[in-house]
Amino acid sequence: MIRGVFSIYHTVINMEEILLNIESKERRYAYLKNGVLDDLIVERNKSRQLTGNVYKGKVINILHNIQSAFIDIAESENGFIHISDILENTKKFECMFDMDFDTGGDLKKKRSSKSTQDIDQLLNIDQSVLVQVVKEPIGSKGARLTSNISIAGRYLVLLPNTPHRGVSRKIEDRPTRDRLKRLIRSFEMPQDIGLICRTASRHATTDLLINEATDLLNSWHSIMDRFQKASDHQLLFEESDLIKRAVVTAVERKIDRLLIDDYQTYKTCKSIYSKYSEEHPLKIEYYRDSVPVFERFGVEREIERSLQRKIWLQSGGYLFVDRTEAMWTIDVNSGRGAKVNVDVEEVIVRINLEASDEIARQLRLRNIGGLIICDFIDMRSRKNRRRVLERLKECMKEDSAKCTILKMSDLGLIEMTRQRNRESLTQTMLTECPYCRGSGLIKTNESVSIEIERAIKRSISISKHYGIRLVTHPELDRYLSNFDKEYLSSMTESMNAKLEFAVDDAIHLNEFQMYSTINDQKLEL
Ligand SMILES: [Zn+2]
Repeated sequence: MIRGVFSIYHTVINMEEILLNIESKERRYAYLKNGVLDDLIVERNKSRQLTGNVYKGKVINILHNIQSAFIDIAESENGFIHISDILENTKKFECMFDMDFDTGGDLKKKRSSKSTQDIDQLLNIDQSVLVQVVKEPIGSKGARLTSNISIAGRYLVLLPNTPHRGVSRKIEDRPTRDRLKRLIRSFEMPQDIGLICRTASRHATTDLLINEATDLLNSWHSIMDRFQKASDHQLLFEESDLIKRAVVTAVERKIDRLLIDDYQTYKTCKSIYSKYSEEHPLKIEYYRDSVPVFERFGVEREIERSLQRKIWLQSGGYLFVDRTEAMWTIDVNSGRGAKVNVDVEEVIVRINLEASDEIARQLRLRNIGGLIICDFIDMRSRKNRRRVLERLKECMKEDSAKCTILKMSDLGLIEMTRQRNRESLTQTMLTECPYCRGSGLIKTNESVSIEIERAIKRSISISKHYGIRLVTHPELDRYLSNFDKEYLSSMTESMNAKLEFAVDDAIHLNEFQMYSTINDQKLEL
């Protein structure tokens, strides 16, 4: 249905675009391929990405047994650093401490004994440290930190703590590798600062590379400067900003258009893009229509869909996406019964193939990470099973998160893992239902009615209450009127008591209250 509408666009417009929707508490990034939402990032103020950010942190707790420390980085959760992320460049790390004003303790003494070092020889409580987030905080787990700072540009990565100068392995062409290596080694910057050429550097001109190296070095200097001036722990450098990422992705993927609904952000995008404009002609437009941009492009509807458990497929099948404690499961179902005179296996294969496309897309939109089990509809032919597996692998190739897909089992299950890089969409947007406490289930009216019967009996025979007012949710009251009120009343009468009924729509459907009609006091159940 929804896809059907878009499939008209599909043939008419063959384009890729990125939409940015900026609100005061939320920033959303949507990547559309031929009009269909293909990737989505929802960033709330509290859940914005931290990876790449550099902080002046403060050591607040040292854990001997696991050789780690908790660092206050002025975010909602403390960060976490392991000794291996400090030791790798002990020397530089200590150098930074020397530049710090209030480290307490004399660090110079501790330089010699690297092999036997213990975390509390390196860190003291309250000490200020320069750290960078390498892994997003997830749930109650704090951000993983390192002291090996790296500052990434579009073409280069600056490594202020490592003297290494190299070229990404993805650039395989010998002459290009040699040219780039020579070039970055000749850059006029301190020899103990490292540089890596990223894949995109292969087409960049020498001037572009020099400009970027200078930018990165300036960023590093300003980080050091802010570190020294900061009186307390705080954010020094924000790297993985959604807006910057949108522009860089647009250039990298050669996207046709970037559409932004906020004027300030639009100008920021223009200025970021000006550095890369030689590489790809990107249209950057300010969206000012009265219909909100995500509504205009059908993204809002797709987000709604990605929060639901059931997803319909065009072929008539549907998916169930469920989360358990340990994994996610995606169940492929055939839906409407197959028509007579139709090759059943052929129908099933068609549903499974479409499911593969949709699963890959839903994993991206929902940003599902960790272990995932997909349960496809059984197929008789081995060849067809392979086709479905191949399709799934093909669709997952475009994913920027790292994925591993195992082979299909005889029962049609595919196990896979997807890198967890930030919260899932449901984690960002939803909270546990207080009504069913996350189980998705509540008691039936019949179950509650049986509890009520027991409670009334107890109240009369044990607590000797002879006038009772029962208060329930209107819906449960309706059920009782239809089925049980008569019985409950006569039962009460036979015990020489009187029962009244009342409703309160603030009450939980599964709960009920009893009051004494004599003194209006609430009765213990
Ligand atoms: Zn619920």
